[in-house]
Parts: sequence; structure tokens; C-alpha cells
Amino acid sequence: MPGRFKDKVVVITGGGSGLGRAAALQLAQEDATLALVDIKMEGLEETKKLVAEKSPAGEVLLITADVSDEVAVQRYVGDTMERFGRIDGFFNNAGIEGKQALTEDYDSSVFDKVIAINLKGVFYGLKHVLAVMKQQGSGYIVNTSSVGGIRAVMNQIAYGASKHAVAGMTKDAAIEYAEYGISVNAIAPGAILTDMVIGSFKQINPDDWKSAAQEFVKDNPAKRLGNPEEIGHLVAYLLSGESPFLNGAIIPIDGAQSAKY
Ligand code: NAD
Repeated sequence: MPGRFKDKVVVITGGGSGLGRAAALQLAQEDATLALVDIKMEGLEETKKLVAEKSPAGEVLLITADVSDEVAVQRYVGDTMERFGRIDGFFNNAGIEGKQALTEDYDSSVFDKVIAINLKGVFYGLKHVLAVMKQQGSGYIVNTSSVGGIRAVMNQIAYGASKHAVAGMTKDAAIEYAEYGISVNAIAPGAILTDMVIGSFKQINPDDWKSAAQEFVKDNPAKRLGNPEEIGHLVAYLLSGESPFLNGAIIPIDGAQSAKY
């Protein structure tokens, strides 16, 4: 039986690591054609290798681009269109954490960088991909927000600002484009075991990030971190078009952490 993504083209930003890679592997298994975007080629090549193991016949285009640069965003959209002629799904996912600090000590240049990548990068992606999807009359978009986009996280003023903005942009884009057959949703992951989260635990305890992780999960109702594969399944579902009336939603995937008082 052909997979849900047979003849479907999906663009993934941050495709060289973590959640982007997990989504790429899940989609490849379901026969997607992929355009993988990342600032680093090394991670993209590793993802391509892993994808080839799951789906030897699947087509994969690798594009290096900095999502905070609008010209580079136009280029990754243009390159994808030139190669495949359409964009059915878009996982607008690349992001960084920034440096943890109390607000009064938060470095303003780090604030600017987090906003440039996490907020403006998502906006540029929406702007240029929505134009393509509107023309097609169809498309599914998943933006990556965070539990930090619906709840506060200590010492992360820029990350919190950017991820709340992603939730807001998701709702705006959803109401603007629903009539064109386009759904725009966001995922709000809790702590998922990726390089970014390991880096975050290292900021808390540089000598022993695993003990910082153990301390962190004590507050999680599920008492564990999430796995990237769990995110891959959710993203694939949202991009599959099985429930197109699901639109403008910010969906937590966090072991019930954000539901807790
Ligand atoms: P990751 O560090 O494993 O992957 C992020 C990828 O984005 C990397 O490959 C990196 O090279 C790429 N990237 C960074 N800056 C970029 C730029 N300017 N242009 C293009 N690519 C760039 O991290 P991850 O955990 O997979 O994070 C993916 C997304 O998920 C981020 O938006 C992050 O904020 C969000 N998120 C992660 C978690 C988590 O617990 N892991 C939780 C909530 C939200």
C-alpha cells in the first residue's frame, strides 16, 4: 500500500538534527519527497543517509540556508519549486534556545538572534510558502512552538517571546488562509531529547547534564523526556491532511506538563 505522502512534497527546516530529522525519517517511511533545509550541511547529509535506509527510492533535496535571512528563505522555496514543482507540506521548525539568564542579565544581542531565527525565520517561511500553497489551493503547515510558547520557562525571556509569537502567527495565518484549503497548526513540545535540550541541561549543570535532566523530569507528570520519534508521528499526522478541519491549533506534546497547575 502506498504511504500517506506518496507524490507529496514536504519542506522541513532544521532538517539536519532533532525534531526535523525525526519528522524527515517518519515522512520518508511514508513515501514523501523531501526538501531538507538547515544552516549546516553536515547534519543534512546525515539525515539524508538515514532517510535512504528507510526509503531507498525516496527523493531528497538538501538546501543550506539561514532561516533568519529572507533572501535565503526565498531561495529554499524557489529551489524546492524548481526541483519538484509544488509544496504540499511544510514543517517550519528550525530554532535555537539562546543563552539562559535572568532578564536583567539577558544579553540583548542573544535576544536579537533568538528573535531573528525563531520568530522572523518562521514568519519568512510562512510568507513564502503560503504564497505557493494559495496558488495550489492546498497545503498543510506545522510550525514549531513550545511549552515555552504557552507557559513561562525560567531564564528564557527571548525563547518565551519567540515561541509565544509562533503560536500567535500560527493562529493569524490559519484564519487568513483556511478558505484557500490550507491548514496551519503548531506543535508545542515539552522537553524532547535532542541536541538543543542536551545543550539546555548543560547550561544548568555543565558537569553533569544527565542529573539536570533527572531533576527536570521530576516535575513532568510522565516523569520522562519525550523522544523525537513521538514528534515525528504527530507532525506526519498534521501534514497528512487526514483532518483538514484541525486548523489554527497549538498542540502540546509534553507528557501533560503544560496541563499541570
Ligand atoms: P536541534 O538543535 O537538534 O535542531 C535544530 C536544527 O535547526 C539544527 O540542525 C540547526 O542546525 C538548525 N538551525 C539552527 N539555526 C538555524 C538557522 N538560522 N537556519 C537554519 N537552520 C538552523 O533542536 P531541536 O530540539 O530539534 O529543535 C527544533 C525545534 O523544536 C526548535 O524550534 C526548538 O525551539 C523546538 N523545540 C524543541 C524542544 C525540545 O525539547 N527539543 C521543545 C520545544 C520546542
